[in-house]
Amino acid sequence: MKKVEDYVRSIPDFPKEGIVFRDVTTVLQDPDGFQLAIDEIDNLLKDVDYDVVVGPESRGFIFGVPIAYKNHKGFVPARKKGKLPCETVSMEYALEYGTAVVELHKDSIKPGQKVVIVDDLIATGGTIEAIIKLIEELGGEVVKVVFLMELEGLKGRDKLKGYNVDAVIKYE
Ligand code: IMP
Repeated sequence: MKKVEDYVRSIPDFPKEGIVFRDVTTVLQDPDGFQLAIDEIDNLLKDVDYDVVVGPESRGFIFGVPIAYKNHKGFVPARKKGKLPCETVSMEYALEYGTAVVELHKDSIKPGQKVVIVDDLIATGGTIEAIIKLIEELGGEVVKVVFLMELEGLKGRDKLKGYNVDAVIKYE
């Protein structure tokens, strides 16, 4: 039986020398790989009580939406600056070079709602840290953060101390 990590394509020196890029397109394009990835993420949430799934643009949509659908939960997109049409809350965070801004609609999370964040991969954790702040600003409670892949060497978990963080595949 193939495992989900068997479907991930690893590309050395992309986007620059020394980086091994974990390519998820080979998981998605295979019906068994895709189903396994969603089922494994869902399995990490089986004992979690939650109301809504937040997924960061854009690969968080791919994995977050099927989880929300499967569990009859709402899905909230966390988007890059300027994409959401109504009133937003926004947060700037650091990238390797420069900064980026992530936004949520102000009415997307209701006070007291239990929120799960689903994304493809945690690297430095900066994106998710910013999204957690926005969810909390709106009164939501982040009950779990789940990734398909974690790059442990980048210590993204250190930014998410105090939160329940889990990943299907862990790379050193
Ligand atoms: P972070 O904010 O540093 O944790 O960055 C997380 C985001 O960077 C993920 O949502 C990915 O889209 C992207 N990313 C970083 N490294 C990789 C990789 O090796 N494969 C795929 N995406 C990556």
